Amino acid sequence: MRWILELFSVACLTLLAELTNAARGGKKHMSIDKQIMDAAPDAGMFDVFHMMPGGDFKVMTELDILLTLDQYKRLRGKRQKVSSGPGRGRANGNRNGRRNGNQNWRRSRLVNRRRGSAGRQKRKADQDESLLWTDCKVYYEVDESFTTEDMQTLETAISEWTSVTCLEFIKSSTATSRVQFKNGAGCYSMIGMQPEPQVVALAPTCRTKGIIAHEIGHAIGWYHEHMRPDRDSFVSINFDAIPPRYHINFDKYTNDEINDHDVQYDYTSLMHYGNDALPGSIVALDPSFQDKMGQREGLSFKDIKLANIMYDCANIMGCTQRTCDFDGFQLYKSYKGSSSCQCWCDSGDVSDPLILCSELDSAPPKPSIRPTETPVVDLCRDVRSNCPELKAKGDCMSKLSLMMDICKQTCGFCGTGEGGGPEPCMDHDKGCPMMAAAGLCTTLEPVMEKQCPASCNLCPSPPDPCQIQKQVMALAAHYPNGTPRLTSFSLLTVIVSVVAVLHHSDYH
Ligand SMILES: [Zn+2]
Repeated sequence: MRWILELFSVACLTLLAELTNAARGGKKHMSIDKQIMDAAPDAGMFDVFHMMPGGDFKVMTELDILLTLDQYKRLRGKRQKVSSGPGRGRANGNRNGRRNGNQNWRRSRLVNRRRGSAGRQKRKADQDESLLWTDCKVYYEVDESFTTEDMQTLETAISEWTSVTCLEFIKSSTATSRVQFKNGAGCYSMIGMQPEPQVVALAPTCRTKGIIAHEIGHAIGWYHEHMRPDRDSFVSINFDAIPPRYHINFDKYTNDEINDHDVQYDYTSLMHYGNDALPGSIVALDPSFQDKMGQREGLSFKDIKLANIMYDCANIMGCTQRTCDFDGFQLYKSYKGSSSCQCWCDSGDVSDPLILCSELDSAPPKPSIRPTETPVVDLCRDVRSNCPELKAKGDCMSKLSLMMDICKQTCGFCGTGEGGGPEPCMDHDKGCPMMAAAGLCTTLEPVMEKQCPASCNLCPSPPDPCQIQKQVMALAAHYPNGTPRLTSFSLLTVIVSVVAVLHHSDYH
Protein backbone atom coordinates (compact mmCIF):
# COMPACT_ATOMS: atom_id res chain seq x y z
CA MET A 1 0.00 0.00 0.00
CA ARG A 2 2.81 2.33 0.95
CA TRP A 3 4.56 2.05 -2.41
CA ILE A 4 1.35 2.94 -4.16
CA LEU A 5 1.11 6.12 -2.11
CA GLU A 6 4.75 6.92 -2.81
CA LEU A 7 4.27 6.33 -6.51
CA PHE A 8 1.20 8.52 -6.45
CA SER A 9 3.01 11.36 -4.67
CA VAL A 10 5.95 11.15 -7.12
CA ALA A 11 3.52 11.33 -10.04
CA CYS A 12 1.79 14.35 -8.48
CA LEU A 13 5.10 16.12 -7.91
CA THR A 14 6.19 15.45 -11.50
CA LEU A 15 2.89 16.79 -12.82
CA LEU A 16 3.16 19.84 -10.57
CA ALA A 17 6.71 20.52 -11.76
CA GLU A 18 5.59 20.29 -15.39
CA LEU A 19 2.65 22.57 -14.82
CA THR A 20 4.86 25.09 -13.03
CA ASN A 21 7.34 25.00 -15.87
CA ALA A 22 4.59 25.48 -18.41
CA ALA A 23 3.22 28.39 -16.41
CA ARG A 24 6.64 30.01 -16.23
CA GLY A 25 7.04 29.61 -19.92
CA GLY A 26 10.74 28.84 -19.96
CA LYS A 27 11.85 27.54 -23.31
CA LYS A 28 8.27 26.93 -24.33
CA HIS A 29 7.76 30.64 -24.92
CA MET A 30 9.24 31.97 -28.11
CA SER A 31 11.76 34.74 -27.65
CA ILE A 32 10.78 38.36 -28.14
CA ASP A 33 12.45 38.68 -31.55
CA LYS A 34 10.35 35.82 -32.93
CA GLN A 35 7.16 37.28 -31.62
CA ILE A 36 8.00 40.65 -33.14
CA MET A 37 8.87 39.04 -36.45
CA ASP A 38 5.71 36.96 -36.58
CA ALA A 39 3.54 39.96 -35.77
CA ALA A 40 4.38 41.56 -39.11
CA PRO A 41 1.85 40.60 -41.76
CA ASP A 42 4.40 41.00 -44.53
CA ALA A 43 8.12 40.21 -44.51
CA GLY A 44 8.65 43.34 -46.63
CA MET A 45 8.03 45.34 -43.47
CA PHE A 46 11.57 44.47 -42.40
CA ASP A 47 13.03 46.13 -45.46
CA VAL A 48 15.15 49.06 -44.36
CA PHE A 49 13.67 51.77 -46.59
CA HIS A 50 9.99 52.61 -46.72
CA MET A 51 8.33 55.38 -48.65
CA MET A 52 5.53 56.91 -46.58
CA PRO A 53 2.25 58.22 -48.05
CA GLY A 54 3.53 61.81 -47.79
CA GLY A 55 6.55 60.95 -49.93
CA ASP A 56 9.19 60.99 -47.21
CA PHE A 57 11.27 57.96 -46.28
CA LYS A 58 11.26 56.10 -43.02
CA VAL A 59 13.71 53.42 -41.97
CA MET A 60 12.83 50.19 -40.20
CA THR A 61 15.81 48.69 -38.46
CA GLU A 62 16.39 45.79 -36.08
CA LEU A 63 12.83 44.56 -36.75
CA ASP A 64 11.07 47.12 -34.57
CA ILE A 65 12.85 50.49 -34.58
CA LEU A 66 11.40 53.16 -36.84
CA LEU A 67 13.67 56.11 -37.68
CA THR A 68 13.55 59.04 -40.02
CA LEU A 69 16.06 58.89 -42.84
CA ASP A 70 18.03 61.72 -41.24
CA GLN A 71 18.21 59.92 -37.91
CA TYR A 72 19.39 56.78 -39.67
CA LYS A 73 22.00 58.68 -41.63
CA ARG A 74 23.35 60.15 -38.41
CA LEU A 75 23.55 56.68 -36.90
CA ARG A 76 24.81 54.71 -39.84
CA GLY A 77 26.16 57.22 -42.31
CA LYS A 78 29.70 57.05 -41.01
CA ARG A 79 31.78 53.99 -41.56
CA GLN A 80 32.48 52.30 -38.24
CA LYS A 81 36.07 52.11 -37.16
CA VAL A 82 35.69 48.48 -36.13
CA SER A 83 33.29 46.51 -38.26
CA SER A 84 31.48 43.57 -36.79
CA GLY A 85 30.18 42.48 -40.14
CA PRO A 86 30.40 39.05 -41.64
CA GLY A 87 33.74 37.37 -41.16
CA ARG A 88 34.98 39.74 -38.48
CA GLY A 89 35.20 39.15 -34.78
CA ARG A 90 33.09 36.06 -34.90
CA ALA A 91 34.91 33.79 -32.49
CA ASN A 92 34.45 35.65 -29.26
CA GLY A 93 34.89 39.30 -30.02
CA ASN A 94 38.45 39.24 -28.74
CA ARG A 95 40.24 38.83 -31.99
CA ASN A 96 40.57 42.51 -32.23
CA GLY A 97 42.94 43.62 -29.52
CA ARG A 98 41.16 46.94 -29.16
CA ARG A 99 38.28 45.21 -27.49
CA ASN A 100 40.38 43.33 -24.96
CA GLY A 101 40.55 44.34 -21.35
CA ASN A 102 38.85 47.42 -20.09
CA GLN A 103 40.14 50.08 -22.38
CA ASN A 104 37.01 50.04 -24.50
CA TRP A 105 34.73 49.02 -21.72
CA ARG A 106 31.82 51.26 -22.28
CA ARG A 107 28.46 49.73 -22.40
CA SER A 108 25.66 50.93 -24.51
CA ARG A 109 22.01 50.72 -24.81
CA LEU A 110 20.80 54.21 -25.05
CA VAL A 111 21.45 57.51 -26.53
CA ASN A 112 24.63 59.24 -25.51
CA ARG A 113 23.47 62.09 -23.35
CA ARG A 114 24.65 61.86 -19.78
CA ARG A 115 23.13 64.84 -18.02
CA GLY A 116 25.43 67.42 -16.61
CA SER A 117 28.38 65.26 -17.45
CA ALA A 118 31.52 66.78 -18.80
CA GLY A 119 32.21 63.36 -20.27
CA ARG A 120 32.96 62.40 -23.80
CA GLN A 121 31.43 63.73 -26.96
CA LYS A 122 29.80 66.81 -25.51
CA ARG A 123 28.49 67.86 -28.87
CA LYS A 124 26.77 64.56 -29.31
CA ALA A 125 25.39 64.70 -25.81
CA ASP A 126 23.87 68.08 -26.52
CA GLN A 127 22.45 66.87 -29.77
CA ASP A 128 20.65 63.98 -28.16
CA GLU A 129 19.49 65.65 -24.98
CA SER A 130 16.09 66.30 -26.53
CA LEU A 131 15.40 62.57 -26.78
CA LEU A 132 14.83 62.37 -23.03
CA TRP A 133 11.23 62.95 -22.02
CA THR A 134 11.00 66.36 -20.43
CA ASP A 135 10.61 66.21 -16.62
CA CYS A 136 10.35 62.42 -16.92
CA LYS A 137 6.77 62.80 -18.15
CA VAL A 138 5.70 60.59 -21.03
CA TYR A 139 2.42 61.69 -22.55
CA TYR A 140 0.41 59.10 -24.40
CA GLU A 141 -2.88 58.30 -26.03
CA VAL A 142 -4.38 54.99 -27.05
CA ASP A 143 -6.18 53.98 -30.21
CA GLU A 144 -9.92 53.55 -29.73
CA SER A 145 -9.74 50.10 -31.27
CA PHE A 146 -7.95 48.72 -28.19
CA THR A 147 -10.23 46.46 -26.17
CA THR A 148 -10.66 46.60 -22.40
CA GLU A 149 -8.32 43.64 -22.14
CA ASP A 150 -5.74 45.41 -24.34
CA MET A 151 -5.99 48.46 -22.10
CA GLN A 152 -5.38 46.36 -19.01
CA THR A 153 -2.31 44.79 -20.61
CA LEU A 154 -1.04 48.22 -21.65
CA GLU A 155 -1.50 49.54 -18.13
CA THR A 156 0.37 46.53 -16.71
CA ALA A 157 3.23 47.22 -19.12
CA ILE A 158 3.27 50.91 -18.17
CA SER A 159 3.32 50.05 -14.47
CA GLU A 160 6.34 47.86 -15.20
CA TRP A 161 8.09 51.20 -15.75
CA THR A 162 6.35 53.48 -13.29
CA SER A 163 6.72 51.13 -10.28
CA VAL A 164 10.51 51.25 -10.35
CA THR A 165 11.47 54.46 -12.17
CA CYS A 166 10.59 58.15 -11.96
CA LEU A 167 8.93 58.08 -15.38
CA GLU A 168 5.32 59.18 -15.31
CA PHE A 169 2.86 58.22 -18.02
CA ILE A 170 0.14 60.79 -18.50
CA LYS A 171 -2.80 60.48 -20.85
CA SER A 172 -3.04 63.34 -23.31
CA SER A 173 -4.32 63.86 -26.80
CA THR A 174 -2.93 67.36 -27.09
CA ALA A 175 0.68 67.31 -25.87
CA THR A 176 3.01 68.07 -28.77
CA SER A 177 5.33 65.21 -27.90
CA ARG A 178 3.29 62.16 -27.11
CA VAL A 179 3.22 58.45 -27.77
CA GLN A 180 0.32 57.16 -29.78
CA PHE A 181 -0.29 53.49 -29.09
CA LYS A 182 -1.92 52.35 -32.30
CA ASN A 183 -2.96 49.26 -34.12
CA GLY A 184 -0.37 48.66 -36.81
CA ALA A 185 1.46 46.23 -39.02
CA GLY A 186 3.70 44.58 -36.46
CA CYS A 187 5.26 46.05 -33.33
CA TYR A 188 7.61 49.01 -33.57
CA SER A 189 8.58 52.31 -31.99
CA MET A 190 10.77 55.34 -32.53
CA ILE A 191 13.74 56.10 -30.26
CA GLY A 192 13.22 58.62 -27.47
CA MET A 193 10.94 61.65 -27.33
CA GLN A 194 10.18 63.19 -30.72
CA PRO A 195 9.16 66.78 -31.43
CA GLU A 196 5.79 65.56 -32.68
CA PRO A 197 3.39 62.71 -31.90
CA GLN A 198 5.11 59.37 -32.37
CA VAL A 199 3.49 56.02 -33.03
CA VAL A 200 4.14 52.88 -31.04
CA ALA A 201 2.54 50.31 -33.31
CA LEU A 202 1.02 47.31 -31.62
CA ALA A 203 -0.63 44.71 -33.82
CA PRO A 204 -2.98 42.50 -31.80
CA THR A 205 -0.29 39.85 -31.29
CA CYS A 206 2.06 42.52 -29.89
CA ARG A 207 -0.28 43.38 -27.05
CA THR A 208 1.50 41.47 -24.32
CA LYS A 209 3.11 43.02 -21.27
CA GLY A 210 6.64 42.11 -22.33
CA ILE A 211 6.42 43.40 -25.89
CA ILE A 212 4.68 46.63 -24.93
CA ALA A 213 7.26 47.26 -22.18
CA HIS A 214 10.00 46.55 -24.76
CA GLU A 215 8.54 49.05 -27.25
CA ILE A 216 8.23 51.61 -24.46
CA GLY A 217 11.94 50.97 -23.84
CA HIS A 218 12.64 52.25 -27.37
CA ALA A 219 10.28 55.19 -26.89
CA ILE A 220 12.13 56.32 -23.76
CA GLY A 221 15.48 56.19 -25.57
CA TRP A 222 16.89 52.68 -25.73
CA TYR A 223 18.35 50.66 -28.57
CA HIS A 224 18.80 46.90 -28.31
CA GLU A 225 21.15 45.39 -25.78
CA HIS A 226 22.86 43.05 -28.25
CA MET A 227 23.82 46.09 -30.38
CA ARG A 228 26.03 47.67 -27.72
CA PRO A 229 29.61 48.54 -28.69
CA ASP A 230 30.93 45.98 -26.19
CA ARG A 231 28.58 43.18 -27.18
CA ASP A 232 31.33 41.13 -28.85
CA SER A 233 32.76 40.48 -25.40
CA PHE A 234 29.52 38.75 -24.43
CA VAL A 235 27.87 37.37 -27.54
CA SER A 236 29.05 36.19 -30.89
CA ILE A 237 26.91 37.17 -33.86
CA ASN A 238 26.84 34.27 -36.28
CA PHE A 239 26.38 36.07 -39.59
CA ASP A 240 26.42 32.74 -41.40
CA ALA A 241 23.08 31.99 -39.78
CA ILE A 242 21.50 35.27 -40.81
CA PRO A 243 20.02 35.88 -44.27
CA PRO A 244 21.96 38.71 -45.99
CA ARG A 245 19.06 41.17 -45.93
CA TYR A 246 19.13 41.13 -42.12
CA HIS A 247 22.90 41.51 -41.65
CA ILE A 248 22.64 45.25 -41.31
CA ASN A 249 20.36 44.75 -38.30
CA PHE A 250 23.24 43.17 -36.41
CA ASP A 251 25.98 45.72 -37.07
CA LYS A 252 26.66 47.05 -33.62
CA TYR A 253 26.75 50.72 -32.64
CA THR A 254 29.79 52.67 -31.58
CA ASN A 255 30.47 54.57 -28.37
CA ASP A 256 29.80 57.80 -30.23
CA GLU A 257 26.21 56.83 -30.83
CA ILE A 258 25.03 55.33 -27.59
CA ASN A 259 25.91 55.50 -23.94
CA ASP A 260 25.48 52.69 -21.43
CA HIS A 261 26.03 54.84 -18.33
CA ASP A 262 28.43 52.16 -17.10
CA VAL A 263 25.73 49.59 -16.57
CA GLN A 264 27.10 46.17 -17.43
CA TYR A 265 26.00 44.13 -20.41
CA ASP A 266 22.85 42.22 -19.64
CA TYR A 267 21.89 38.95 -21.32
CA THR A 268 18.57 39.07 -19.49
CA SER A 269 17.61 42.58 -20.58
CA LEU A 270 14.12 42.99 -21.95
CA MET A 271 15.88 44.75 -24.84
CA HIS A 272 17.98 41.68 -25.80
CA TYR A 273 16.89 39.53 -28.72
CA GLY A 274 17.02 35.75 -28.57
CA ASN A 275 17.42 33.12 -31.23
CA ASP A 276 13.94 32.02 -32.19
CA ALA A 277 13.46 34.39 -35.14
CA LEU A 278 16.84 33.57 -36.68
CA PRO A 279 18.07 30.33 -35.10
CA GLY A 280 21.78 30.26 -34.34
CA SER A 281 22.22 34.01 -34.85
CA ILE A 282 23.26 35.09 -31.32
CA VAL A 283 25.62 32.87 -29.36
CA ALA A 284 26.14 33.67 -25.67
CA LEU A 285 29.82 33.49 -24.75
CA ASP A 286 28.66 32.41 -21.30
CA PRO A 287 26.64 29.36 -22.32
CA SER A 288 24.59 29.46 -19.13
CA PHE A 289 22.85 32.53 -20.56
CA GLN A 290 22.09 31.06 -23.98
CA ASP A 291 18.47 30.28 -23.14
CA LYS A 292 17.97 33.42 -21.09
CA MET A 293 18.37 35.84 -23.98
CA GLY A 294 15.14 37.11 -25.52
CA GLN A 295 13.05 37.00 -22.35
CA ARG A 296 9.84 38.99 -22.45
CA GLU A 297 8.78 38.64 -18.88
CA GLY A 298 9.66 42.18 -17.84
CA LEU A 299 12.40 44.66 -17.00
CA SER A 300 15.58 43.10 -15.65
CA PHE A 301 17.57 44.53 -12.75
CA LYS A 302 20.00 46.27 -15.08
CA ASP A 303 17.14 47.66 -17.18
CA ILE A 304 15.69 49.24 -14.06
CA LYS A 305 19.07 50.51 -12.90
CA LEU A 306 19.82 52.02 -16.29
CA ALA A 307 16.46 53.81 -16.53
CA ASN A 308 16.98 55.28 -13.06
CA ILE A 309 20.47 56.53 -13.92
CA MET A 310 19.51 57.78 -17.34
CA TYR A 311 16.60 59.85 -16.03
CA ASP A 312 18.61 60.81 -12.95
CA CYS A 313 15.72 59.67 -10.74
CA ALA A 314 17.39 59.55 -7.31
CA ASN A 315 18.88 63.00 -7.73
CA ILE A 316 15.84 64.81 -9.04
CA MET A 317 13.61 63.14 -6.45
CA GLY A 318 15.80 64.49 -3.65
CA CYS A 319 17.74 61.48 -2.39
CA THR A 320 21.04 62.20 -0.70
CA GLN A 321 23.45 60.60 -3.06
CA ARG A 322 25.06 57.39 -1.85
CA THR A 323 27.14 54.67 -3.37
CA CYS A 324 25.65 51.20 -3.44
CA ASP A 325 27.53 47.95 -2.90
CA PHE A 326 27.44 45.06 -5.32
CA ASP A 327 26.62 47.15 -8.39
CA GLY A 328 23.36 48.27 -6.86
CA PHE A 329 21.59 51.58 -7.42
CA GLN A 330 19.59 54.00 -5.36
CA LEU A 331 15.85 53.80 -5.86
CA TYR A 332 14.21 57.08 -4.95
CA LYS A 333 10.86 55.62 -3.97
CA SER A 334 9.81 53.21 -1.27
CA TYR A 335 9.53 49.72 -2.61
CA LYS A 336 8.38 46.40 -1.18
CA GLY A 337 7.73 48.07 2.17
CA SER A 338 11.21 49.53 2.41
CA SER A 339 11.86 53.25 2.80
CA SER A 340 12.84 55.53 -0.07
CA CYS A 341 16.39 56.19 -1.31
CA GLN A 342 17.59 52.66 -0.48
CA CYS A 343 20.20 50.70 -2.40
CA TRP A 344 18.71 47.89 -4.46
CA CYS A 345 20.65 45.03 -6.01
CA ASP A 346 20.17 42.24 -8.53
CA SER A 347 18.21 39.32 -7.08
CA GLY A 348 19.13 37.16 -10.07
CA ASP A 349 15.43 36.49 -10.72
CA VAL A 350 13.90 38.35 -13.66
CA SER A 351 10.39 37.85 -12.33
CA ASP A 352 11.32 39.72 -9.11
CA PRO A 353 14.59 41.46 -9.97
CA LEU A 354 15.21 43.79 -7.02
CA ILE A 355 16.57 42.85 -3.59
CA LEU A 356 17.90 45.23 -0.93
CA CYS A 357 21.68 45.30 -1.23
CA SER A 358 21.85 45.07 2.57
CA GLU A 359 20.38 41.57 2.30
CA LEU A 360 23.20 40.36 0.09
CA ASP A 361 26.58 39.01 1.18
CA SER A 362 28.15 39.31 -2.22
CA ALA A 363 27.46 40.56 -5.71
CA PRO A 364 25.74 38.23 -8.16
CA PRO A 365 28.26 36.27 -10.25
CA LYS A 366 29.45 37.97 -13.42
CA PRO A 367 29.16 36.17 -16.75
CA SER A 368 31.81 33.56 -17.22
CA ILE A 369 33.04 34.04 -20.76
CA ARG A 370 34.52 31.05 -22.53
CA PRO A 371 35.79 30.29 -26.01
CA THR A 372 32.67 29.29 -27.88
CA GLU A 373 32.17 27.26 -30.99
CA THR A 374 29.97 29.03 -33.48
CA PRO A 375 27.25 26.53 -34.36
CA VAL A 376 26.99 25.40 -37.93
CA VAL A 377 23.49 26.27 -38.99
CA ASP A 378 21.58 24.91 -41.95
CA LEU A 379 20.47 28.01 -43.84
CA CYS A 380 18.17 25.92 -45.99
CA ARG A 381 15.12 27.01 -44.06
CA ASP A 382 12.16 29.35 -44.13
CA VAL A 383 12.15 32.44 -41.95
CA ARG A 384 8.43 33.06 -42.41
CA SER A 385 5.65 30.59 -41.73
CA ASN A 386 3.52 31.62 -44.73
CA CYS A 387 6.08 30.62 -47.37
CA PRO A 388 3.84 28.00 -49.05
CA GLU A 389 1.20 30.71 -49.49
CA LEU A 390 3.73 33.14 -50.94
CA LYS A 391 5.05 30.49 -53.27
CA ALA A 392 1.52 29.78 -54.51
CA LYS A 393 1.20 33.50 -55.33
CA GLY A 394 4.31 33.27 -57.47
CA ASP A 395 6.49 35.32 -55.15
CA CYS A 396 9.42 32.88 -55.44
CA MET A 397 10.13 34.37 -58.83
CA SER A 398 8.50 37.78 -58.73
CA LYS A 399 10.16 38.69 -55.42
CA LEU A 400 13.29 36.67 -55.93
CA SER A 401 15.66 38.58 -53.66
CA LEU A 402 13.23 38.61 -50.74
CA MET A 403 12.25 34.99 -51.15
CA MET A 404 15.85 33.80 -51.36
CA ASP A 405 16.23 35.08 -47.84
CA ILE A 406 12.93 34.30 -46.21
CA CYS A 407 11.56 31.21 -48.00
CA LYS A 408 14.66 29.44 -49.19
CA GLN A 409 13.40 25.97 -48.45
CA THR A 410 9.89 26.32 -49.82
CA CYS A 411 11.08 28.05 -52.99
CA GLY A 412 13.72 25.39 -53.55
CA PHE A 413 16.56 27.90 -53.44
CA CYS A 414 18.76 25.68 -51.30
CA GLY A 415 21.89 24.34 -52.86
CA THR A 416 23.02 27.72 -54.11
CA GLY A 417 26.15 29.19 -52.66
CA GLU A 418 28.97 26.73 -52.00
CA GLY A 419 27.51 23.78 -53.88
CA GLY A 420 25.47 25.50 -56.53
CA GLY A 421 27.46 28.48 -57.67
CA PRO A 422 27.36 32.04 -56.42
CA GLU A 423 24.08 33.69 -55.57
CA PRO A 424 23.28 36.60 -57.85
CA CYS A 425 24.66 39.94 -56.73
CA MET A 426 21.43 41.77 -56.05
CA ASP A 427 19.68 44.31 -53.87
CA HIS A 428 18.18 43.19 -50.58
CA ASP A 429 15.65 45.93 -50.25
CA LYS A 430 12.87 47.02 -52.56
CA GLY A 431 13.65 50.69 -51.92
CA CYS A 432 17.19 50.37 -53.28
CA PRO A 433 16.76 51.96 -56.72
CA MET A 434 15.04 55.00 -55.21
CA MET A 435 17.58 55.35 -52.44
CA ALA A 436 20.43 55.10 -54.92
CA ALA A 437 18.78 57.77 -57.04
CA ALA A 438 18.59 59.98 -53.95
CA GLY A 439 22.37 59.77 -53.57
CA LEU A 440 22.47 57.47 -50.57
CA CYS A 441 25.15 55.25 -52.09
CA THR A 442 27.59 57.89 -50.90
CA THR A 443 25.81 59.47 -47.91
CA LEU A 444 24.84 56.12 -46.41
CA GLU A 445 27.57 53.99 -47.87
CA PRO A 446 28.04 51.47 -45.01
CA VAL A 447 24.40 50.42 -45.28
CA MET A 448 23.94 50.75 -49.01
CA GLU A 449 26.90 48.59 -49.91
CA LYS A 450 25.28 45.72 -48.03
CA GLN A 451 21.63 46.30 -48.83
CA CYS A 452 21.85 47.70 -52.33
CA PRO A 453 25.02 46.47 -54.09
CA ALA A 454 23.29 46.29 -57.48
CA SER A 455 21.67 49.73 -57.33
CA CYS A 456 24.93 51.23 -56.06
CA ASN A 457 26.80 49.59 -58.88
CA LEU A 458 28.96 47.60 -56.48
CA CYS A 459 28.58 44.15 -57.98
CA PRO A 460 31.83 42.59 -59.19
CA SER A 461 30.65 42.92 -62.77
CA PRO A 462 27.97 45.24 -64.13
CA PRO A 463 24.47 43.74 -63.92
CA ASP A 464 23.88 41.66 -67.01
CA PRO A 465 20.23 40.80 -67.69
CA CYS A 466 21.19 37.59 -69.47
CA GLN A 467 23.42 36.48 -66.59
CA ILE A 468 20.79 37.24 -63.96
CA GLN A 469 18.20 35.44 -66.04
CA LYS A 470 20.50 32.43 -66.22
CA GLN A 471 21.01 32.47 -62.47
CA VAL A 472 17.29 32.78 -61.88
CA MET A 473 16.65 29.84 -64.17
CA ALA A 474 19.29 27.82 -62.32
CA LEU A 475 17.58 28.61 -59.02
CA ALA A 476 14.18 27.78 -60.43
CA ALA A 477 15.49 24.38 -61.47
CA HIS A 478 15.62 23.49 -57.78
CA TYR A 479 11.87 23.32 -57.60
CA PRO A 480 10.76 19.91 -56.32
CA ASN A 481 8.78 19.20 -59.46
CA GLY A 482 11.70 20.19 -61.61
CA THR A 483 9.64 22.65 -63.62
CA PRO A 484 11.07 26.13 -63.81
CA ARG A 485 8.28 28.57 -63.13
CA LEU A 486 9.73 31.66 -64.60
CA THR A 487 6.53 33.22 -65.82
CA SER A 488 6.49 36.00 -68.36
CA PHE A 489 5.47 38.35 -65.55
CA SER A 490 8.39 37.38 -63.33
CA LEU A 491 10.78 37.53 -66.25
CA LEU A 492 9.49 41.01 -66.92
CA THR A 493 10.07 41.88 -63.24
CA VAL A 494 13.67 40.72 -63.47
CA ILE A 495 14.28 42.70 -66.64
CA VAL A 496 12.61 45.80 -65.22
CA SER A 497 14.77 45.50 -62.08
CA VAL A 498 17.92 45.23 -64.13
CA VAL A 499 16.93 48.15 -66.31
CA ALA A 500 16.25 50.16 -63.15
CA VAL A 501 19.69 49.25 -61.86
CA LEU A 502 21.35 50.32 -65.10
CA HIS A 503 19.30 53.50 -65.14
CA HIS A 504 20.21 54.45 -61.59
CA SER A 505 23.85 53.62 -62.08
CA ASP A 506 23.89 56.68 -64.33
CA TYR A 507 23.72 58.79 -61.19
CA HIS A 508 27.16 57.72 -60.03
ZN1 LIG B 1 13.05 46.28 -30.08
